[in-house]
Amino acid sequence: MKPVDPQSDRFFFFYHRHSSTGSNQPEPTHTMSGLYIHIPFCKSRCIYCDFFSTTMLERRAEYVDALCTELHERRTEAKTPHHTIGTIYIGGGTPTQLSPEQTSQIMQAIRHDYDVDPDAEITIEANPSDITPDTAHQLLDTGFNRVSLGIQTFDNHLLHLINRRHDAKTAIEAVHTLRQAGFSNISIDLIYALPRQTTPQWAADVQQAINLQPEHISAYALMYEEHTQLYQMLQKKQIEETDEETALSMYRHLCNQLRDAGYHHYEISNFSQPGRHSRHNSNYWNDTPYIGIGAGAHSYDGNSRRQNLPHLDTYIHAIRNHTTYYETEQLTTTDKFNETLMTRLRTSQGLNLNHLEQRFGTQLRQYVEQQAKPYIESRKLHIDLPGPTLRLTEDGIFTSNDIIATLLAP
Ligand code: SF4
Repeated sequence: MKPVDPQSDRFFFFYHRHSSTGSNQPEPTHTMSGLYIHIPFCKSRCIYCDFFSTTMLERRAEYVDALCTELHERRTEAKTPHHTIGTIYIGGGTPTQLSPEQTSQIMQAIRHDYDVDPDAEITIEANPSDITPDTAHQLLDTGFNRVSLGIQTFDNHLLHLINRRHDAKTAIEAVHTLRQAGFSNISIDLIYALPRQTTPQWAADVQQAINLQPEHISAYALMYEEHTQLYQMLQKKQIEETDEETALSMYRHLCNQLRDAGYHHYEISNFSQPGRHSRHNSNYWNDTPYIGIGAGAHSYDGNSRRQNLPHLDTYIHAIRNHTTYYETEQLTTTDKFNETLMTRLRTSQGLNLNHLEQRFGTQLRQYVEQQAKPYIESRKLHIDLPGPTLRLTEDGIFTSNDIIATLLAP
């Protein structure tokens, strides 16, 4: 429901401020891996969506069988050298379009083949329309301890415009239903800079989200992706793209309102109550290995990235016939350096220069320090001591593309 690849965010480099608590978070230890399961089924298509998903719900049973086969075949990847699964994330698509039996089949396959940490964060993405008291209890019984709700906005006109299935009342009820069932870790997704959305409307959305007191909020600026209905509407001038200034004003509102409500802005697009950051998504930013299962899913083992082909038939056919269904890319040191730089500057933890030196050598550290100097002098970057840790300042956010481009490996 939301970009798995954080680099697809329009505000990739727009990091507003950091909290001092974030800098104390430990560096990744690589003792636990993440497990991502992709469920590509949706009941209907949202007009802005370019994620890999399909409305062919009749294929769910055979897809789940294929997923379980892939889980079994890749079980050793989590065992050596990373012994335990610390986070499980079932995303999509709309995972709550699976039957309780299908969801349970996947969770049983995971528990059968993987060593899951007793304290694992286990998340499922859900459409608010799918959340009933029965569903909420089933999800808890199946082992989920976190639900990520794709709410996007509480404005019914905008929900209708982007073809979401739910309305505002359903979204609010879904949060209450999950709470009553016993969920104590709820995340909600919002989208801003929607067509015809005003800054006051967006501020009302953020306030409504705060009123529900979710432990976590993700907020992404709308992207006009080619091949989407939304993009066609833009081309035909049926809608207008929100101008950059308004989008920035919305982003400022978001950051200020959530900060005032006690949320920690721990990543450009992500906010949490203290200690409730998404452990799974943090894997992506902290260089922790993860295994992605299902059509279109990505994996990372510390040295290479793998992508399963985003095609339902190809995936199911290949799993059944033991043929290849993925592509692998070996990462060079330069790739890893650049990714580290981009992802760490995206987070409130920032870029620790000692850690950078340990991984990539003195020469690259000195290069970053040299390149960063003018930005430190103009107060767009800040170095925190001890650490030393490099972070974007509030001013640096708005020219962060340029700043980061200057810091990338020569
Ligand atoms: S629910 Fe909408 S946004 Fe999410 S994957 Fe399905 S079509 Fe895309």
